[in-house]
Amino acid sequence: MEDMVIRKLTCKTMAVLAVTLGALLFCSVPALEAREAESVVVYSARIERLIKPMFDAFTAKTGVKVEYFTASEAELFERLKAEGSHTPADILMTVDAGNLWIAEEAGLLQGFQSPTIAKNIPAHLRAKDNAWVGLSVRARPIMYSTQRVKPTELSTYEALGNPRWRGRLCLRTSRKVYTQSLVATMIKTLGEQRTAAVLRGWMKNEPHISNSDTKMLEAIAAGQCDVTIANTYYLARLQAKAPTFPVTVFWPNQNDRGVHVNVSGAGVTKHAKHRAEAIRLIEFLSAPEAQHLYADANYEYPANPAVKPDTLIAAWGTFKADTVDVAAAGALQPAAVKLLDRVGYK
Ligand code: FE
Repeated sequence: MEDMVIRKLTCKTMAVLAVTLGALLFCSVPALEAREAESVVVYSARIERLIKPMFDAFTAKTGVKVEYFTASEAELFERLKAEGSHTPADILMTVDAGNLWIAEEAGLLQGFQSPTIAKNIPAHLRAKDNAWVGLSVRARPIMYSTQRVKPTELSTYEALGNPRWRGRLCLRTSRKVYTQSLVATMIKTLGEQRTAAVLRGWMKNEPHISNSDTKMLEAIAAGQCDVTIANTYYLARLQAKAPTFPVTVFWPNQNDRGVHVNVSGAGVTKHAKHRAEAIRLIEFLSAPEAQHLYADANYEYPANPAVKPDTLIAAWGTFKADTVDVAAAGALQPAAVKLLDRVGYK
């Protein structure tokens, strides 16, 4: 940044000199823009290991450097708000449509038009004006003990309210955005009353409430519960370490709305100084080459339907995904939080 200030000051001095000399060419504005456009700055709630390989590929292809700063969503939101128009960030990158929607609502993002994005990313996985764009997909299906549960006992999220699962259910805390987004999309499709009935069914089964998807899966392996709802990449990580890990995926609701999916994604910040490069990076991330790197780094599903998932997760088979607009996960989040509280889901 200091560099930029020095360049601007030098430019101003040169401009004065140039006017005096009647030779404006000394300080050409396009040249200055070209120099400042050599890097793009990303604020990322995703850790370095997951983002660096794609950024390196982008730089190798375009010559545009990517600087990044990683922190929690909450910290990045606060930073962007506090920095306002002075923010160095051109892109905000985070997980869950709920989080992306909150950033959009807070006025931290700006949309853009892009035929590339329109071609690469299905409309239900991004905001209407591309204020944020889903770049990888995580499914949140049912997962079960291969030792104590038969897949024929399972069918839908709703059916986890069946008394047969009493004391056998592990569920993620209602404080986690994953739970809130799952419930928000259920409200969108089923309405509030039916969703309340589903949640009451789960609560009647006295679920063990956990603060970690990984811990829930390990609890199943340890025999502490038999069934859960979790994000696919957590199981993939465990299976990658131990191929005989005794938990697998059940794809629920295949005869109706499909499996709940969510995204990780990115948006151009409201005050981006390198808007064109920021758009170029998001477009690059949506294209097949980066989609492989992006999805495989964390065992997620590519958001671009033309790209095949990693073999480990492909082994769970294909599934019908809920194509409800994931933006609904954000818009109905306050309603979801209230409903979870009302039914006593901790
Ligand atoms: Fe996660």
